[in-house]
Amino acid sequence: MANPVIVAVDDDPQVLRAVERDLRRRFGHEYRIVAAESGPSALDAARRLSLRGTPVALYLADQRMPGMTGTEFLEAARDIFPDAKRVLLTAYADTEVAIQAINSIRLDHYLLKPWDPPEEKLYPVLEDLLGDWQAAYVPPFDGLRLVSHRWVARSHEIKDYLARNQIPYRWLDVETDPEAVSLVASAGEGEGREPLLVFPDGSHLVEPSNLQIAEKVGLRTQAALPFYDLVIVGGGPAGLAAAVYGASEGLRTLLVEQEAPGGQAGTTSRIENYLGFPSGLSGSDLARRALAQASRLGAEILTPQAVVGMSVNDPYKLVQLSDGSAVSCQALLVATGVEYRRLDVPGLDVLTGAGVFYGAATTEAPFYRGQHVAVVGGGNSAGQAAVYLARYAEDVLLVVRGATVEAGMSQYLVDRIGATPNIRVLLRSSVVAVHGNQALEAVEVATGDQARQRFEAAAMFVFIGQQPRTDWLGDAVERDQAGFVLSGPALSRTGNQPVRWPLRREPLLLETSVPGVFVAGDVRSGSVKRIASSVGEGSMAVQFIHQYLATL
Ligand SMILES: Cc1cc2nc3c(=O)[nH]c(=O)nc-3n(C[C@H](O)[C@H](O)[C@H](O)COP(=O)(O)OP(=O)(O)OC[C@H]3O[C@@H](n4cnc5c(N)ncnc54)[C@H](O)[C@@H]3O)c2cc1C
Repeated sequence: MANPVIVAVDDDPQVLRAVERDLRRRFGHEYRIVAAESGPSALDAARRLSLRGTPVALYLADQRMPGMTGTEFLEAARDIFPDAKRVLLTAYADTEVAIQAINSIRLDHYLLKPWDPPEEKLYPVLEDLLGDWQAAYVPPFDGLRLVSHRWVARSHEIKDYLARNQIPYRWLDVETDPEAVSLVASAGEGEGREPLLVFPDGSHLVEPSNLQIAEKVGLRTQAALPFYDLVIVGGGPAGLAAAVYGASEGLRTLLVEQEAPGGQAGTTSRIENYLGFPSGLSGSDLARRALAQASRLGAEILTPQAVVGMSVNDPYKLVQLSDGSAVSCQALLVATGVEYRRLDVPGLDVLTGAGVFYGAATTEAPFYRGQHVAVVGGGNSAGQAAVYLARYAEDVLLVVRGATVEAGMSQYLVDRIGATPNIRVLLRSSVVAVHGNQALEAVEVATGDQARQRFEAAAMFVFIGQQPRTDWLGDAVERDQAGFVLSGPALSRTGNQPVRWPLRREPLLLETSVPGVFVAGDVRSGSVKRIASSVGEGSMAVQFIHQYLATL
């Protein structure tokens, strides 16, 4: 397959030559560089590439061009290659235009002219963007192919698992796709033997577990050592941050994650409020970067592997894993976050995965192009899902129990929902019934004391709050009434030493009622439930873990 393309556009031949030269020097071995002297000629070039099936990875356009400005070009170019990264080349005086373009045309970055030295001012930005593009790009090669009927719940789970572990795949509908039918036949499997996962080497698995998939694609599922300084349970932002700091500060660090690194943040379509990313970033990008960073610094990551129990043989903690093995450690960090609360509506369970989803808006959205969908919930996650789905669906019904949207959502989301014409908000409302045989077809909504209304909906995405994942801790660690783990000063509700605390010293800030067991992120009682705060707590926990280890 031909190399992907970087398109550079500038009406000034000298500047264009300089951009072309610098791009070719760093990226020429992996990308073809196409230079154009105007927006319209660059659009023609992009259309020709699209016909030949050669993807454009990045557009780099000067803002000041006669006829068609850089922002006008980038907006038009989005229609041809929607996933290509878009960078504007600006003079200092155009900074305001560039900042506006971040919102209006979702510009990925702007660079100030001149960009010398390119090693500092051009390459790092473009490498970062091209890395994101590569991670999301599914080239038309024979990678993993998943064959199933559309409404098979396990098929939905596998898609989610593959996407969250950044394993590229193609899904083929066995009902409509001739390639799917021939794959089933060549695999020698009969009708109903699905989901069928076909690997690039031609081998296949029928209804595989996540563990089988992980082993086949080479993810590490077993610990290399019997003993670690620090074991982290949970690979969300808190756990990944702790892995980065633990490993970089010389602790033998193991992170155990039961689904996919990234946690809830990994399922987020767009994180707008994470420091340092003015154009926002997707949860999967954040997860991918954090995972790469933790691994590079030496943390060992096991996934998928759940921790199912923990016991203490002071000062050691023994952690039981779902495959029956165990590892021990000196310090343990609980970073298991929260899981979605289930909606209690009759008949909903059988439709889960067949139109009814908890989270998963990013994975499923493209399948609902041009259809009616519903989102249930009044928090930021529901708002983000509604905005994301509105890019694909004909319309999105947002069902909110509260009296206002503002009560549960950040203002930027309230504004975005207001500015998205195909989102309809129903306040003081709840879903009371669902309809559909094989898959969801309609939802019934009760609003205040009005009669129930029925809405056509091919999918419903539920975001109605979360509960902590602490079952595996048994009774060992003290929790609050809602099940969140207590730590530090919160353990001594009376102001005295906590009842079950065995030592003379006070518990450290993120230390639980068991010395040497720490907690960070959403699962901690009183936590802020944000990505940045979870990252902060995960990083801080390592500092307290050092203090704890010094006492042994
Ligand atoms: C859709 C959505 C959108 C959001 N958008 C934003 C946003 O824009 N900005 C923002 O700041 N916050 C946002 N949040 C909140 C943010 O994602 C969370 O606050 C953050 O992810 C919490 O991080 P954490 O590491 O504490 O827990 P989690 O992200 O919940 O991660 C916990 C991890 O632990 C794993 N785990 C659980 N139990 C076990 C076990 N027994 N063994 C092994 N592994 C286990 C889970 O699989 C999970 O991966 C959003 C949340 C959602 C759901």
